[in-house]
Amino acid sequence: MLELDDLPLIDQHVHIFERESDQPTFDPLATFSLGGDWVDFLDSGGHKPTDQERNQLQVNQRQAMIYHEAMHAVAGYLGCEPNREAIIAARAKKAADYKSYVRGMYRDINLESNIVDLGHPKNVSLAEFEALTGVPAFGLLRIEPVIGEIWDQQDSLAGLEKAFEERIRKAASDPKIISLKTVIAYRTGLELKPLASSVVSTAMDNLKQGPHAAGLFAKIHVPRSTRDDVKRVRDHLVWRALELSIRLLTTSPARAGRKLLAKYPTAVARNASATPTSPAARRRIRQRQARMNRAIDDRHATTSSTPGRARRMTRHTSVHAIPRTDT
Ligand SMILES: [Zn+2]
Repeated sequence: MLELDDLPLIDQHVHIFERESDQPTFDPLATFSLGGDWVDFLDSGGHKPTDQERNQLQVNQRQAMIYHEAMHAVAGYLGCEPNREAIIAARAKKAADYKSYVRGMYRDINLESNIVDLGHPKNVSLAEFEALTGVPAFGLLRIEPVIGEIWDQQDSLAGLEKAFEERIRKAASDPKIISLKTVIAYRTGLELKPLASSVVSTAMDNLKQGPHAAGLFAKIHVPRSTRDDVKRVRDHLVWRALELSIRLLTTSPARAGRKLLAKYPTAVARNASATPTSPAARRRIRQRQARMNRAIDDRHATTSSTPGRARRMTRHTSVHAIPRTDT
């Protein structure tokens, strides 16, 4: 068994907690499946979600494997029966002091820092989140809202690129912003094509001269006639964002080393890399040594056969998680 409990964790994709999560009626289990029991996505194209659809969503959610996994994990932490009602009741008691409740859970998993998706909800205060959790919080900046805002102010690709770079530069100058994020998969798909500027420029001109230009990049669903050109512009800006993130975001977690996230990269890299184990390190762990000796004894035991029976076979698994040297 690998023992990972002592490793400090970074949660690298956090959406700050729902506002109602400090209420005694809050159901934490509803947050465990993607989208939870959120029905708004069915409210589109003139369709209003029916009661039957609402109920079905709830049924789906409560039958998901992750829901049951979560139910047992949360019940284990709260010390109650693994069912929804018991969990809500036990949580309500503990969350009466909401701040200590949150901090206690983060301490339990040895959380070292949070990296917060600033795209949803909007106007997140990292300082407030830190004050609640007691854990340093850093931000991921989504590029799509930026594109949505600058699109209407620019008429040429050169102007759009310049405005985009200025906005990203400004964001990156905040030491709390450590990464860019794109949700292009939800807009025009993941097949990102590097395109010649002339191609993207023509696409932008087409869109600007067409009837749907206003507010086009703030939309999730765009008119079919604009899709190909919208994709060209979006693909191009994601490539720009990648280039800018290499140039500007030198404080990303992967590069931060000791400066930004003091313990994480070095400690984890050291623990996770293959390091030769010295014989002395093995001897220091008595229990493991005893277990290994016992395994050897078992091996001898299996060689004595009972008359009339096939010889018992024991296959030993390899020994994992051997402690490493302290160097
Ligand atoms: Zn997210």
